[in-house]
Amino acid sequence: MKQSDNLVEKSRQYLQMLCDTIPGRCVGSEGNRMATGYFSETLKSLGWEPESPAFDAIDWTSKGAKLTADGQEFSVHSSPYSRGCDTEATLIAAGNLQELEVLRMEGCIVLLHGELAVEQLMPKNFVFYNPEHHRKIIARLEAGKPAALVCATGFNPELAGGVYPFPLIEDGDFDIPSVFTTEEIGTQLLKYTGEKVRLVSDAVRIPGKGYNITALKGKNAGKRIVVSAHIDAKKGTPGAIDNATGVIVLLLLAEMLRDYNGDTAVELAAFNGEDYYAVPGQMLYISENQDSFDQIILNINIDGAGYHEGGSAYSLFDLPENMEHEAHLVFGSSHGFWEGPQWPQGDHSIFVQYGCPAIAITSEWFLHNMYTQRITHTPGDHPRIVNPEQLPAIAEAILDMIKKC
Ligand SMILES: [Zn+2]
Repeated sequence: MKQSDNLVEKSRQYLQMLCDTIPGRCVGSEGNRMATGYFSETLKSLGWEPESPAFDAIDWTSKGAKLTADGQEFSVHSSPYSRGCDTEATLIAAGNLQELEVLRMEGCIVLLHGELAVEQLMPKNFVFYNPEHHRKIIARLEAGKPAALVCATGFNPELAGGVYPFPLIEDGDFDIPSVFTTEEIGTQLLKYTGEKVRLVSDAVRIPGKGYNITALKGKNAGKRIVVSAHIDAKKGTPGAIDNATGVIVLLLLAEMLRDYNGDTAVELAAFNGEDYYAVPGQMLYISENQDSFDQIILNINIDGAGYHEGGSAYSLFDLPENMEHEAHLVFGSSHGFWEGPQWPQGDHSIFVQYGCPAIAITSEWFLHNMYTQRITHTPGDHPRIVNPEQLPAIAEAILDMIKKC
């Protein structure tokens, strides 16, 4: 067996472990802790000394939700991380911020639709990006003290992956119970405004822990390259492309760098929380590295790699001129990756925000279909859409880039 066949076979085994054997990698869940434990143990077996800083994170389950109006049942879903409820109250509605601002909603069930529900509202404590109109909607709702919310949302893959209807609110720090449903059902419900309706959402929050896993090799920790991938997955998806494949590339690289003792240090980082409302692992990494981002000469982040159609893509963020030249030679000329546009939704943005150059690695197909695909965050993100042969190729390209730094 050739060494490359061996790495493809390993990729298959890692993929099976992360997506099949482990029952979901959502932050705060047992599966998530199994995944970080497995990642850490595998690094140890490959001669690394991983660290596992911990943070608090809630897990969440729902046995379902239903809304009844005038004896008729409507299909609704508990919003992820929402509190549950069983409440009968008057239904009122708001389609935009002006309507919401004058609505007296205390004790009522509020139907949010139209303009208010076109895009997912950023979680209250999400600091990286939080538009003013999102914060206004949330503040107005909290001040208004409604009993519960029904959110009728459209199709918006840019902010919700491929999910429809998408949860307008996905925030464990927001305490008004909420459910979400389709635009069509929202339109039907408008007929019942002013009437009493009953909303049951059988959801519970479960407190737990999560871990980042990081490990370092090389002589000079004061000058390092961080190769990262998020290990968590959205609830309800095997998270094969998003982002078991990224984690697998880290493990392959760990094996290739087993005996690494170069001058520039290499840090492997499995971040935990990219697909979780409060991005706790990323926040923890930032607080731990607050004063040392200037030591990071490059971040290479893998997210969405290894799709079975098309090849790999690389996007460059603020590389110094000579490094940019090397990156084109390594990823473009030698390894045949496609140079994609810059895209913001990924952990590379953290490094960019802190002034570090970054390279984001993903699949060409996703960059071409970013706004129309319906795979991300759904059960369709399954190992069957992965081409395991691409993963050793990505690890080898990253290894070549490391050697140039
Ligand atoms: Zn991702």
